[in-house]
Amino acid sequence: MKEPVRVRASSLPELFDCPARWEARNIKGMRLPSSGAAQLGRAVHVGTALYDLGRIRGAGLSAEDCATEVVRLIRHPLEDVDWGDSSPAEAESMALALHRKYCAEIAPGFDFVDVEAECRGLEIAGLGLVLTGTTDRIYRDERGNLGIADIKTGKNAVGADGTVRTAGHAAQVAVYELLAEEATGQPMDAPAVIIGLQVAKKEAGRRAGTGSITGARELLAGSDGAPGLLEAAAEMLRSGIFFGNPRSTLCHKKYCPAYESCRFRR
Ligand code: SF4
Repeated sequence: MKEPVRVRASSLPELFDCPARWEARNIKGMRLPSSGAAQLGRAVHVGTALYDLGRIRGAGLSAEDCATEVVRLIRHPLEDVDWGDSSPAEAESMALALHRKYCAEIAPGFDFVDVEAECRGLEIAGLGLVLTGTTDRIYRDERGNLGIADIKTGKNAVGADGTVRTAGHAAQVAVYELLAEEATGQPMDAPAVIIGLQVAKKEAGRRAGTGSITGARELLAGSDGAPGLLEAAAEMLRSGIFFGNPRSTLCHKKYCPAYESCRFRR
């Protein structure tokens, strides 16, 4: 019997955006230096996670205590970073501003019960697929139900009215809900929340906001004869056929490690 295929939940959007790029990274092991934007996001994730963990554990860590981790990740990245037209100094200043914004404006509004909850393997019955990954946050709502929260940083993460565009995120948060349920052994009945942190060079452009998604799990089930998301992923992996999508917005040598050799661009 064939071994199930292990897939990181965070890689699923790439599998559907351009299967050939997903294959290049996840099966062929092709790599590019991390981008400055990705490193900034990573630094904010680490700093804010430390802050929320401190709150859960009553460790009394302030936002400034945790900011040292943000700085460390920017100044001493664990992998090569291509800072492009930015610089570590500029990224540090933007990351610190977002970290402080999160700690002051977002974290106090949530009753978080877990941070970076890890699921080492959730086997999807009958599909030959094992999902792995971590869920940014698990929170408890006012009715005592648990739900997941996913943090996204980016230049367009939050609208001018402070709301976060959730379109396009439902499938991924549904997978995170499955992972969180496996990691905690409890149902995720509260709406999934996207926490958006908008990156900008100037303070006026920086924003923090939230948006919620209900019923995301329905996307994972098929309808009207069409396969659900996980079934489609499993079918692609089983067939070993990974078509390229040259119309992907990430079809660029900056983002795709297979760009130079890709036959789908011709
Ligand atoms: S070059 Fe474009 S089409 Fe080819 S794998 Fe990369 S993103 Fe996909």
